[in-house]
Amino acid sequence: MATVKRLCVYCGSCRGNNELFRLSATRLGTLLARSGIEVVFGGGRVGLMGLVADAALAAGGRVTGIIPGHLHEREVGHPGLSELVIVENMHQRKRRMFELADGFIVLPGGLGTLDETFEIITWKQLGLHDKPVIIVDIDGYWAPLRGLIDHVIGEGFTSRTALNYFRVVADVEEILPMIASLPEPMAPVAAKLV
Ligand code: AMP
Repeated sequence: MATVKRLCVYCGSCRGNNELFRLSATRLGTLLARSGIEVVFGGGRVGLMGLVADAALAAGGRVTGIIPGHLHEREVGHPGLSELVIVENMHQRKRRMFELADGFIVLPGGLGTLDETFEIITWKQLGLHDKPVIIVDIDGYWAPLRGLIDHVIGEGFTSRTALNYFRVVADVEEILPMIASLPEPMAPVAAKLV
């Protein structure tokens, strides 16, 4: 596996109801910082995303946020990041996060997290990248997502190959060993995003 310098974290702009989600977000930020891995994320100070960033910064890590101007103006932008990149819109944000990161981690989150997760998986299906995508199924939160993908396969709308586009782990401590166990990403077969 190639050296991972930056990992993008997709997760909720809310904290959710389960204390384990908050603890895991904090543990992930600390773990990435201590491993010398830069965090790339959506730039907000709220929710699980804010907890990941706070913990990484507190542990001396580098954290880059990518936020659209309209969200930054609503004062949800994190004020203490190593770097906060302000972009014009959500599409630019997701593209920049994709370009910067060597891989993607999915913690519990809401509709925005689902959008980001499915986008990065479908870009992999299209051959636009071969970077690792690790879904962290804390306390079974993402079991329905896995069930939905099995349903889509069962109904003939994608093949079992879809299961190769991501890995599911149960805990944040399993993320880096899982990435290390994966083969080196192949060069994209499709030329570019747009
Ligand atoms: P959520 O999981 O809905 O709390 O959102 C998590 C992240 O996704 C936040 O950074 C949101 O700004 C972002 N987000 C929210 N809605 C969308 C959307 N429709 N498309 C892409 N990203 C979104």
